[in-house]
Amino acid sequence: ALHNSLVELRGNIRVHCRIRPLLPFDNAAGHSISQDGNFSEKVVYAADDETVLVKCSRPGHASINKTFQFERVYNASESQDTVFADVAPLLTSLLDGYNVCIMAYGQTGSGKTYTMLGPQLEENFAFSIEDESELGIIPRATQEVFRLISEKPPGSYWVEVSVVEVYNNEIFDLLAKDSCGKLFGVKRDVITTREGKSDVPLLTYETVENASEFFHLVNKGLQLRVRHPTLVHAHSSRSHLVVTLTITTVVSCTFPQKIKDNKSTSSSRASSPVQLEATEKMKQVKTRLQLVDLAGSECVGMSGVTGAALRETSFINRSLSALADVLGAIAEQRPHIPYRNSKLTHLLQDSVGGDAKLLVMLCISPDQRYLTESMQSLGFGTRAR
Ligand code: ADP
Ligand code: MG
Repeated sequence: ALHNSLVELRGNIRVHCRIRPLLPFDNAAGHSISQDGNFSEKVVYAADDETVLVKCSRPGHASINKTFQFERVYNASESQDTVFADVAPLLTSLLDGYNVCIMAYGQTGSGKTYTMLGPQLEENFAFSIEDESELGIIPRATQEVFRLISEKPPGSYWVEVSVVEVYNNEIFDLLAKDSCGKLFGVKRDVITTREGKSDVPLLTYETVENASEFFHLVNKGLQLRVRHPTLVHAHSSRSHLVVTLTITTVVSCTFPQKIKDNKSTSSSRASSPVQLEATEKMKQVKTRLQLVDLAGSECVGMSGVTGAALRETSFINRSLSALADVLGAIAEQRPHIPYRNSKLTHLLQDSVGGDAKLLVMLCISPDQRYLTESMQSLGFGTRAR
């Protein structure tokens, strides 16, 4: 019982781990056996649906045989459908008034974008919506939100979307328009409001009425990344993508109020029961769903890296370690959570802390050539629990 209550007290962070299949490009010509004798070989396994096994014993190398536990582990053959089935209950919480964040963490090539968006159309970062079965969490979550809303009284909920990219600790609004109405990424800042919430002043929110409007909008935002002067060099693996759905509903709150009784002034019966009248007030309630495709977590060596690449690398390392610090502080229930150490954590503050519900999807490549990166990601996920 003590164990159970501790788990509950730990807050609302859950960590799932998805191991992608070994893919043809893992064995691409020139890669199958590289000069250092590294060859493509599966070393990370889903031992069962809560256990990851890392097993590697190669002659001349230290052998590893280690397991990691998570709330859920997906093996390489588990579909987008299966992954989403575990995500869907969070969206019910969203409409019940909880903020929700779903983020994919892992090295470049581990399956983050595939998991969050779906297969990408290489040339412009947009994701393909041709094959419904291949859709990732972001489009599916949006469909589910609209499905849940359709069960409510018409007009009682509305949905707004923002799309931002965090690159070099700067926030770019991917839905901002220039004076001609063309999309044009604009730099924004994140602040803390008087109520202690995080807010991005002037951020563009577009109202969307259904999932296909949403797909269209997000794809337009994603394509902007290749055209924007500052972002043109920022390959998707070096920036964090944050898609936010803000759901607004109007609730009526009734509270009792005394009825003024003019006739009773002359009455000597002072103890007559006070009459109450229900007063109704309308109040807007907003909840937030933040969907995050993080920058690649690989530890890019600093040696030999200069200029822009060095800047990028150090910003990614800093923002991901700020994220690790925040999740660690939440898991340990420390009184102070250091959200403000990076723009990324500041931006996500209200959907990862407090009574918000966070799902971290660790994405792992099973290939032994990425063993160091996979161990790092598994460590990140373990510390966040
Ligand atoms: P990341 O965003 O982490 O850099 P991607 O999502 O781009 O990685 O995945 C790299 C490649 O692997 C892509 O071609 C993607 O379609 C493929 N891939 C990733 N995960 C899976 C999976 N579970 N099943 C099939 N293909 C996958
Ligand atoms: Mg990606």
